[in-house]
Amino acid sequence: MKKAVVVGSGIAGIASAIRLQNKGYSVQVLEKNSYPGGKLTQLTGNGYRFDAGPSLFTMPNLVTELFEISGKNPSDYFNYDQLDVLCNYFYEDGTRISAHKDIKRFADEIDRNTEDSAEKVIKHLNKSKFIYGATEEQFLNRSLHKIGSFLSFKTLTSIVKLPFLNIFSSMNQVNEKAFKDSKTVRLFNRYATYNGSNPYKAPGILNIIPHLEFGLGAYLPKGGMHEITNSLVKLAKEIGVKFQFNAEVTSIETEGNKAKSVHTKSGNYEGEIIVCNADIHTVYEKLIPSAKKLEQVDKQERSSSALIFYWGIGQEFPELDVHNILFTEDYKTEFEHLFDSKTISDNPTIYINITSKHLKQDAPKGKENWFVMINVPSVYGQDWDEMIAKARKNIFTKISRVLDQDIESLIEFEEQLTPQLIQDRTNSFKGSLYGTSSNNRFAAFFRHKNFSSEFKNLYFCGGSVHPGGGIPLALSSAKIIDKLIK
Ligand SMILES: Cc1cc2nc3c(=O)[nH]c(=O)nc-3n(C[C@H](O)[C@H](O)[C@H](O)COP(=O)(O)OP(=O)(O)OC[C@H]3O[C@@H](n4cnc5c(N)ncnc54)[C@H](O)[C@@H]3O)c2cc1C
Repeated sequence: MKKAVVVGSGIAGIASAIRLQNKGYSVQVLEKNSYPGGKLTQLTGNGYRFDAGPSLFTMPNLVTELFEISGKNPSDYFNYDQLDVLCNYFYEDGTRISAHKDIKRFADEIDRNTEDSAEKVIKHLNKSKFIYGATEEQFLNRSLHKIGSFLSFKTLTSIVKLPFLNIFSSMNQVNEKAFKDSKTVRLFNRYATYNGSNPYKAPGILNIIPHLEFGLGAYLPKGGMHEITNSLVKLAKEIGVKFQFNAEVTSIETEGNKAKSVHTKSGNYEGEIIVCNADIHTVYEKLIPSAKKLEQVDKQERSSSALIFYWGIGQEFPELDVHNILFTEDYKTEFEHLFDSKTISDNPTIYINITSKHLKQDAPKGKENWFVMINVPSVYGQDWDEMIAKARKNIFTKISRVLDQDIESLIEFEEQLTPQLIQDRTNSFKGSLYGTSSNNRFAAFFRHKNFSSEFKNLYFCGGSVHPGGGIPLALSSAKIIDKLIK
């Protein structure tokens, strides 16, 4: 068998390994950590379990197809439920809106609670579906950097539809035109954060994202998000993929126009194909040093990062669901802090994820596992200790105000994840969650391609390259590589 080496066992690395093994390669995955999954991992303590990174799961078909192409029945390995409520939204004036998966029900909620009509919501979601239909094939399923990708009938029809995809307006401009109530506008602007972007700068085409939730559904794996990693690693091992943990890759040796072997402190691994799942910045900074390439990839603004508190809460809150958002009143200022001054606003929008609402085993009886997250800038030399201490206080104040209950006194377990830790644990440049941001209408074209034009057997997958960050896109990058390797 020909050999392939995958650098990194993030979700895209694992998916690439499964695909390559199925193609007939003998695949070796090298991972610097002692565990697989990269950002998609978990932590436990004091009777609580938390998904450490991603909490929203969309497009499960991209996971299940990995079992199918391996000749397995997905449900023997991986199972998940669709959520009835996508998110509960809380506003400072006391308004509460539940985003039901049933679009009509959600539209009626908006109608009842804001100045916007149900018809407007349905029209907006139909537009989201239209954008998805017009762009999926070209932007998500193919390389944007191969001329062949532009020669299909589907692509040509996508190009004809470009003027209707809101590329030349910001997401906020489109949403302000569609809705008059700032509550509705904020609700739809928030979708820019699903890939770490700023709705006041990102193009309106990002209004594709609501369709992923409302059209295709939001899900929660049985056993939690971490089961995506566990089940895929189990599958990979069964079909013959080899994993080496605590094996940080220090360099990739090249010869002529080929990547020859991958070096770790404990040994070298040769491969006919080499796939890098590590952040593209790390690749050009450390593995194949190239000042010119580094400068090119660093020109792109990084996505936002996150500050997360994992709190074991000794009480249940019936008004909360699996996904909850406590909005700030001044969303624009929050994004100016994130992307302009690289600080944290004093009244940030807070996301609370509680898997124990659906997975009872994730918290002791009568208690809840709170994953409390705010968007924060990526790492630019800020005084994080001071910023985190202040944010923690502001978060307590806000949650206690909105839920009318002191939260700090209910905490039985606490851990934190900071941008610096995200950077250290996964080599994600500046701790960004989704690679580069989409704060520019050409971002999709500037994102690094999935192959090297210098070394013909070197490929790139994961959130820092095309088509972008988030589990579905990271999995899509592995699929694109699969198509590129003949
Ligand atoms: C807090 C948080 C919340 C998120 N929320 C969501 C969400 O709700 N939904 C969603 O879809 N996405 C979400 N994301 C984004 C999502 O987690 C990522 O886009 C996705 O997991 C990225 O996968 P990846 O394969 O690109 O790489 P990563 O998970 O970054 O993994 C890369 C792997 O490569 C390894 N590596 C790096 N350098 C080396 C080296 N030199 N040698 C060996 N190994 C190396 C790393 O250790 C790591 O294991 C979130 C991310 C975070 C952190």
